[in-house]
Amino acid sequence: MTAPVSTRTSADLIRAEEPVLAHNYHPLPVVVARAEGTWVEDVEGNRYLDMLAGYSALNFGHRHPALIEAAHRQLDRLTLTSRAFHNDRLAEFAERLARLTGLDMVLPMNTGAEAVESGIKVARKWAYEVKGVPADRATIVVAADNFHGRTTTIVSFSTDETARSGFGPFTPGFRVVPYNDLAALEAAVDETTAAVLIEPIQGEAGVVIPDDGYLAGVRELTRRTNCLFVADEIQSGLGRTGRTLAVEHEGVVPDVLLLGKALGGGIVPVSAVVARRDVLGVLRPGEHGSTFGGNPLAAAVGTAVIELLETGEFQRRARDLGAVLRDGLTGLVGKGVLGFRSRGLWAGVDVDPAIGTGREVSHRLMGEGVLVKDTHGSTIRLAPPLTITEAELASALEVLEGVLGRG
Ligand SMILES: *Cc1c(COP(=O)(O)O)cnc(C)c1O
Repeated sequence: MTAPVSTRTSADLIRAEEPVLAHNYHPLPVVVARAEGTWVEDVEGNRYLDMLAGYSALNFGHRHPALIEAAHRQLDRLTLTSRAFHNDRLAEFAERLARLTGLDMVLPMNTGAEAVESGIKVARKWAYEVKGVPADRATIVVAADNFHGRTTTIVSFSTDETARSGFGPFTPGFRVVPYNDLAALEAAVDETTAAVLIEPIQGEAGVVIPDDGYLAGVRELTRRTNCLFVADEIQSGLGRTGRTLAVEHEGVVPDVLLLGKALGGGIVPVSAVVARRDVLGVLRPGEHGSTFGGNPLAAAVGTAVIELLETGEFQRRARDLGAVLRDGLTGLVGKGVLGFRSRGLWAGVDVDPAIGTGREVSHRLMGEGVLVKDTHGSTIRLAPPLTITEAELASALEVLEGVLGRG
């Protein structure tokens, strides 16, 4: 416990939100006031282990010193130019991001949804200009239970009724096939197909990991049928699974890579479309843009993030501690856990519904000082900062065991 930072209590602040804040979220009743590393603290000074890490936006923990320093340095010099002018931080960001991912060119944006939207536009344009698809006929094949963001076009190809209902009319040009089903994918691809857009691991769906060979199969199919493989690594990428990118587990390089979340170091929204030159090269001046995309503050923080990833330390931690997480969860199967899926420091845990919904379990964990979030039903997602120590991870698993054991 440290000195409270607010004169209003958590209960006051939660009540104050109700009449003035849109009700599009249903947060756990904890009001965070400060944070460092793996730990957050509420307004009363209670400390919690953050096992969600901003849905992977905080892969390097809260306020990583190198990222905060990069942000401070840039704040004191230059924050925004717009792309009407060049800024002195953007070249290095793009060069290093291309090198990190093994691709050629970068389109800087801000949020994940913008990266997805931008990837869709680039894929369509590539289909018309390079592949020769007749005007306005391009299709994009996506997977059921996907999560790619919240814009009207993106929810147009969601299969989650809560995300779609009431938001039509929808954008045409998408075909939905079951995830992890190469035959269904092959059947949906034809001469109008611009791209196959998938998450290498489906995060919001509950950390759903496809069978070995699926991603390599998508790569082979898209190459053979002359359409683009667009990999949405906004949540799976940047160290989370024990590699820089989740596609690396199958030695796959997509044509287009979508990044976001952790790219902004938990400080500013930074996203990007990264692709081969013959794909991103279809964009010409005036055809796409963003006022804030590629701003010098974002580029400085993004470059500092890339610098952390270049060391390989975080990928290694995710691999090593991922084994600890897997062992711990394996020990809970049959003791409140029905099953789980994990890769690196990322797990979807199916809790026995007899014990409670995912939300109820998350609520009880909060009471014990561990913050997690349910994905849906009885599945909770664990995605701690990659900076978590083995002792902190062990203590989180112990709390989980206690909460599930008490049922
Ligand atoms: C979070 C997420 C997005 C959307 O990112 P926002 O920054 O919330 O717009 C897109 N794709 C995946 C896989 C995500 O996890």
